[in-house]
Amino acid sequence: MRVTPYGAVRTVTGSMHLVETGGLRLLLDCGLFQGRRAESQEVNASLPFPASSIDAVVLSHAHLDHCGNLPTLVSQGFNGPIYCTPATRDLAALVLRDSAKVQRQDIRFVNKIRRRQGQKPVTPLYTGKDAERAIRRLATVPYGQTFSIGPARVRFYDAGHILGSAITVLEADGRVLGFSGDLGRLGAPIVRDPEVPPAVDLLLMETTYGDRLHQSYAEGEARLTEVVMETAQRGGKVLIPAFALGRTQDLIYSLRRLRESGHLSSLPVFVDSPMAVDATAIYRRHPECFDEETRGRLKRRDPFGFKEVRYVRLQAESQQLNDMAEPFVVIATSGMCESGRIRHHLRQHIGDPRSTLLIVSFQAAHTLGRRLAGGTSPVNIFGEPHEVRLQVRVLDSFSAHADRDELLAWVGRLPRVGQVLCVHGEESQSLVFADRLTSRGFTVRVPERGEQFTV
Ligand SMILES: [Zn+2]
Repeated sequence: MRVTPYGAVRTVTGSMHLVETGGLRLLLDCGLFQGRRAESQEVNASLPFPASSIDAVVLSHAHLDHCGNLPTLVSQGFNGPIYCTPATRDLAALVLRDSAKVQRQDIRFVNKIRRRQGQKPVTPLYTGKDAERAIRRLATVPYGQTFSIGPARVRFYDAGHILGSAITVLEADGRVLGFSGDLGRLGAPIVRDPEVPPAVDLLLMETTYGDRLHQSYAEGEARLTEVVMETAQRGGKVLIPAFALGRTQDLIYSLRRLRESGHLSSLPVFVDSPMAVDATAIYRRHPECFDEETRGRLKRRDPFGFKEVRYVRLQAESQQLNDMAEPFVVIATSGMCESGRIRHHLRQHIGDPRSTLLIVSFQAAHTLGRRLAGGTSPVNIFGEPHEVRLQVRVLDSFSAHADRDELLAWVGRLPRVGQVLCVHGEESQSLVFADRLTSRGFTVRVPERGEQFTV
């Protein structure tokens, strides 16, 4: 068996690995590479192999950096099945349709500028039609069922990262390959804890937080309560930028729990993102992925709804929030403040010292979220400078990724690991994590893009 990591190597985006065994050519993930525009376009459009040479894809979960380049693969000639769990299929369909829409809007903007500069228009990476064709190829297999792809036997284990996320174990020719996908945290809301797979000869392992520790969920909820209550007492608004998929549902779940236990007083909570509304509806349809606590709650009532929460789909309704004088919490996309409705709320409240921007997710370099988290002022929103007078607070406990100690504990529980390849992490995180594993007796590599490993 030969394994070639092609994406999310010494970086966190564009997850994609080629597995070759007994004549089968299989891709693990086909994620979108996200970075500067020109570079991203180039990386995403030029696949390092002919798309038609790939027999099948196995998808770990529905985040864009894991599934977002599937329409490119299909548009360039791939016509095999794409295996994933049932919840991943539903979420991936939502993500791919949204991604095609974003590409269309993006390219319109780029071409407007190019026209002004007298340059030829460019075409989008893929269209809505390509996305639909990719969606039709999604084939579902639940956790814990062994299925065959040519000479390989494959099984999904729960990765506990977002709804439907899977660890993949593939066996062929007497060798076993494990792929962690993204690993969740212990005790995270809604989803179960990550499962531990059986012995593997080679393990492709994520290292997003290979050198960082998070606060516990309990501490996180305590601080969330503190921030919301203090802001409400000042008469301000709490703005929470969050990914539509996963983080938003986790936050709603926690706010609901705090409200029920009496820690949080009555306060309107708005989920202001059409995609988050759709994603939450998909969460409701997949109780088979819930942990015991969430299943228990489900028997009594909706875990994603409570009296004070409102899901906002229409833009006009979103704009009406500007006129509300009383305190509220608003959760809006995007998670790094680069696009979406969060920017409108920021523009409205950035000059108000009573209000709080609460950052709960990873902020990549060069994003508005990162600048705000770092205390930059003024910042540009929609091309205009704004003094930052609202409070900015950062909470890392709502991360959907295992931290360093959780990653170490997980890999330590596998009965046997022949070799570990550290992927899906900024280089500094992957290298430090690899050192830690080496000092614990593991055979470890941080691969280069396109490096081949034979098992
Ligand atoms: Zn993910």
